Amino acid sequence: MTPLDTILLLLLVAAAAMIFWQRAQAAALQQRHSRELAEQRNAREAELQAQSNRTAALFDRMVEGILVVGADGRVRLVNPAAATLFQVTLPVVGRTVLEATRHHEVAALVARMTTEPEVLNHELRLEGLATTRYLQVNALALLATDGTPDGAILVFHDLTRLRQLEAVRQDFVANVSHELRTPLSLIKSAAETLIDGGKHDPAVTSRFLVIIDKHANRLTLLIDDLLLLARLDSGRMELNLQPVGLRVAAQEALDDAALIARARDVRLENNVTEGVIAAADPERLRQVLTNLIDNAIKYGRAGGRVAVGGRIVDRGRVEITVADDGPGIPLEAKTRIFERFYRADKARSREQGGTGLGLAIVKNVVQAHGGDVRVESTLGAGTEFFITLPAAKT
Ligand code: ADP
Repeated sequence: MTPLDTILLLLLVAAAAMIFWQRAQAAALQQRHSRELAEQRNAREAELQAQSNRTAALFDRMVEGILVVGADGRVRLVNPAAATLFQVTLPVVGRTVLEATRHHEVAALVARMTTEPEVLNHELRLEGLATTRYLQVNALALLATDGTPDGAILVFHDLTRLRQLEAVRQDFVANVSHELRTPLSLIKSAAETLIDGGKHDPAVTSRFLVIIDKHANRLTLLIDDLLLLARLDSGRMELNLQPVGLRVAAQEALDDAALIARARDVRLENNVTEGVIAAADPERLRQVLTNLIDNAIKYGRAGGRVAVGGRIVDRGRVEITVADDGPGIPLEAKTRIFERFYRADKARSREQGGTGLGLAIVKNVVQAHGGDVRVESTLGAGTEFFITLPAAKT
């Protein structure tokens, strides 16, 4: 081999080496590039997955019910809140809106989406077996990427509780107005009788002044009870909690009631065990006991007996009871007597000057103490109210 051949050979080898090196470099570059692409793809997929998990969690946890309907009018998605609202028990994806919700009004709303792209704040009243439900619906027609209709999304907000509270408030205002109007009109007509000449006859004057005084007192009692309930409702009532011996507390309330008990010839008994101590606000507890004892005398048997009992229930709780041997409370009234203005015996309550708020106050005060109240009654045999209160810490 000539030196020239050697040089040519070396050049050839060098060129081949160069080509190999360049190919290896390109392959490595390619590999790195694909690795980076794969990494980017994985990161994007992970982000998409996380996003989808977040959306699913949001969808599942939303208080609002969501119903997604396809262009074919069949359900595509239902979140748990919507399933609860419509009491859906079976899988409903793929069914018609009517099959899924069993309400024509909802199906009609979905049909309306074909002509209206958006329905806002539409209120539905759904008559159910047990209750009527009120739903606010916002609905939006969906479009596919090419602009063709692609079904709709409906968002339901349950207004039932709100409507029920509104109804309670309206009833309450109507009741208060009625309760105020009755004594007021009696006071007014008594005053008119006096103005119209009655005042010239001393007997008529004193009779009508007694009427005015009685109904003015009734108004005062009513307003005091209403103000107390308003304070209890707003949570503004501060309790002056302290250890209260129930035997002494019962005796004080019984002494307060002695006069009205005598008028009905009712025997009063204090059977509270010594050493039963509640953590209570003494003034409020006295009011609770007075309301229960007054009721037991008013609605119990003339010539009968009213007994206050008390015992330790367990380490944390004490119980106080007020029992009478009167006619009892009918079953249908038993669940309602703690409602404001509910009266089992309307005539007797009005005759006795009751405000219809006594037991509502008892319940609220006891609950503000963290306690409970319940009633047991047997027609013809008597009624017993049970109150549990936290025991004083020793
Ligand atoms: P009222 O001002 O009418 O007494 P309450 O809220 O104190 O209002 O009581 C509600 C109703 O519960 C009363 O109107 C009465 O019909 C019934 N009631 C309460 N206590 C008794 C009882 N011991 N025996 C029978 N009925 C009772």
